[in-house]
Amino acid sequence: MTTDPECIFCKIVAGDLPAEKIHEDDRTIAFMDVNPGTRGHALVIPKNHTKDLLEIDPDELAAVTRSAQTVSRRAMERLEADGINLLNCCGSEAWQTVFHFHIHVVPRYVDDPLQL
Ligand code: 5GP
Ligand code: ZN
Repeated sequence: MTTDPECIFCKIVAGDLPAEKIHEDDRTIAFMDVNPGTRGHALVIPKNHTKDLLEIDPDELAAVTRSAQTVSRRAMERLEADGINLLNCCGSEAWQTVFHFHIHVVPRYVDDPLQL
Protein backbone atom coordinates (compact mmCIF):
# COMPACT_ATOMS: atom_id res chain seq x y z
CA MET A 1 0.00 0.00 0.00
CA THR A 2 1.22 3.51 -0.80
CA THR A 3 1.34 5.80 2.20
CA ASP A 4 2.73 9.22 3.09
CA PRO A 5 3.76 9.59 6.74
CA GLU A 6 3.01 13.35 6.64
CA CYS A 7 -0.54 12.94 5.28
CA ILE A 8 -3.44 13.26 7.73
CA PHE A 9 -5.72 11.00 5.69
CA CYS A 10 -3.01 8.30 5.57
CA LYS A 11 -2.88 8.61 9.37
CA ILE A 12 -6.65 8.04 9.50
CA VAL A 13 -6.27 4.97 7.23
CA ALA A 14 -3.56 3.64 9.54
CA GLY A 15 -5.68 4.30 12.65
CA ASP A 16 -3.09 6.76 13.98
CA LEU A 17 -5.53 9.70 13.86
CA PRO A 18 -9.10 9.24 15.14
CA ALA A 19 -12.02 9.58 12.74
CA GLU A 20 -15.67 8.58 12.76
CA LYS A 21 -15.48 5.82 10.18
CA ILE A 22 -18.77 4.99 8.45
CA HIS A 23 -17.75 2.61 5.65
CA GLU A 24 -14.78 0.48 4.69
CA ASP A 25 -13.87 -2.04 2.02
CA ASP A 26 -10.56 -3.43 0.79
CA ARG A 27 -9.61 -0.28 -1.18
CA THR A 28 -11.47 2.61 0.44
CA ILE A 29 -12.73 4.12 3.66
CA ALA A 30 -15.32 6.79 4.42
CA PHE A 31 -15.47 8.94 7.52
CA MET A 32 -17.24 12.02 8.76
CA ASP A 33 -15.77 15.40 7.84
CA VAL A 34 -14.44 17.13 10.96
CA ASN A 35 -16.00 20.42 9.78
CA PRO A 36 -19.29 19.35 8.18
CA GLY A 37 -21.07 21.60 5.71
CA THR A 38 -24.34 19.78 6.45
CA ARG A 39 -25.47 16.91 8.67
CA GLY A 40 -23.80 13.71 7.51
CA HIS A 41 -21.05 15.35 5.41
CA ALA A 42 -18.56 12.52 4.77
CA LEU A 43 -15.29 12.02 2.92
CA VAL A 44 -14.53 8.94 0.84
CA ILE A 45 -10.88 8.16 0.16
CA PRO A 46 -8.67 5.44 -1.31
CA LYS A 47 -6.49 3.65 1.24
CA ASN A 48 -3.52 4.24 -1.06
CA HIS A 49 -2.03 7.71 -0.88
CA THR A 50 -2.74 9.53 -4.15
CA LYS A 51 -2.54 13.29 -4.42
CA ASP A 52 -5.53 14.19 -6.53
CA LEU A 53 -7.98 13.48 -9.36
CA LEU A 54 -5.27 13.76 -12.00
CA GLU A 55 -3.02 11.17 -10.37
CA ILE A 56 -5.45 8.55 -9.12
CA ASP A 57 -5.52 5.23 -10.93
CA PRO A 58 -8.86 4.85 -12.80
CA ASP A 59 -9.67 1.53 -11.08
CA GLU A 60 -9.04 3.15 -7.71
CA LEU A 61 -11.25 6.08 -8.75
CA ALA A 62 -14.00 3.60 -9.63
CA ALA A 63 -13.67 1.98 -6.20
CA VAL A 64 -13.91 5.35 -4.43
CA THR A 65 -16.91 6.32 -6.57
CA ARG A 66 -18.68 3.05 -5.72
CA SER A 67 -18.13 3.73 -2.01
CA ALA A 68 -19.42 7.29 -2.46
CA GLN A 69 -22.59 5.81 -3.98
CA THR A 70 -23.01 3.47 -0.99
CA VAL A 71 -22.53 6.35 1.46
CA SER A 72 -24.94 8.52 -0.55
CA ARG A 73 -27.65 5.85 -0.55
CA ARG A 74 -27.24 5.45 3.19
CA ALA A 75 -27.55 9.21 3.75
CA MET A 76 -30.75 9.29 1.73
CA GLU A 77 -32.22 6.37 3.71
CA ARG A 78 -30.94 6.88 7.24
CA LEU A 79 -30.59 10.66 7.42
CA GLU A 80 -33.60 11.27 5.19
CA ALA A 81 -31.56 13.67 3.08
CA ASP A 82 -33.39 15.33 0.21
CA GLY A 83 -30.43 15.21 -2.16
CA ILE A 84 -26.67 14.74 -2.33
CA ASN A 85 -23.78 16.78 -3.69
CA LEU A 86 -20.60 14.89 -4.59
CA LEU A 87 -17.62 17.21 -4.71
CA ASN A 88 -13.95 16.81 -5.50
CA CYS A 89 -11.49 19.68 -5.27
CA CYS A 90 -8.41 19.26 -7.46
CA GLY A 91 -5.68 21.79 -6.76
CA SER A 92 -5.45 24.57 -4.22
CA GLU A 93 -7.06 27.05 -6.62
CA ALA A 94 -10.07 24.74 -6.61
CA TRP A 95 -10.17 24.66 -2.76
CA GLN A 96 -8.20 21.42 -2.24
CA THR A 97 -6.60 21.59 1.19
CA VAL A 98 -5.79 17.93 1.88
CA PHE A 99 -3.64 16.41 -0.84
CA HIS A 100 -4.88 12.84 -0.54
CA PHE A 101 -7.66 12.29 -3.09
CA HIS A 102 -11.16 12.44 -1.59
CA ILE A 103 -14.75 12.81 -2.63
CA HIS A 104 -17.03 14.86 -0.40
CA VAL A 105 -20.48 13.33 0.06
CA VAL A 106 -22.64 16.25 1.15
CA PRO A 107 -26.23 15.40 2.06
CA ARG A 108 -28.61 18.23 1.24
CA TYR A 109 -31.82 19.14 3.04
CA VAL A 110 -34.67 21.36 2.03
CA ASP A 111 -33.77 24.87 3.22
CA ASP A 112 -30.26 23.95 4.45
CA PRO A 113 -28.08 27.08 4.40
CA LEU A 114 -25.05 25.59 2.59
CA GLN A 115 -23.71 27.52 -0.38
CA LEU A 116 -21.10 25.76 -2.52
P1 5GP B 1 -10.68 19.74 0.61
O1 5GP B 1 -10.71 21.20 0.99
O2 5GP B 1 -9.26 19.25 0.44
O3 5GP B 1 -11.56 19.40 -0.55
O4 5GP B 1 -11.34 18.96 1.83
C1 5GP B 1 -10.64 18.57 2.96
C2 5GP B 1 -11.68 18.25 4.01
O5 5GP B 1 -11.04 17.51 5.04
C3 5GP B 1 -12.29 19.49 4.67
O6 5GP B 1 -13.70 19.46 4.49
C4 5GP B 1 -11.91 19.36 6.15
O7 5GP B 1 -12.94 19.75 7.02
C5 5GP B 1 -11.59 17.88 6.28
N1 5GP B 1 -10.57 17.58 7.26
C6 5GP B 1 -9.38 18.20 7.43
N2 5GP B 1 -8.69 17.62 8.43
C7 5GP B 1 -9.45 16.60 8.89
C8 5GP B 1 -9.27 15.64 9.93
O8 5GP B 1 -8.25 15.59 10.62
N3 5GP B 1 -10.27 14.75 10.13
C9 5GP B 1 -11.43 14.76 9.38
N4 5GP B 1 -12.36 13.85 9.67
N5 5GP B 1 -11.63 15.65 8.39
C10 5GP B 1 -10.65 16.57 8.15
ZN1 ZN C 1 -2.37 10.20 2.20
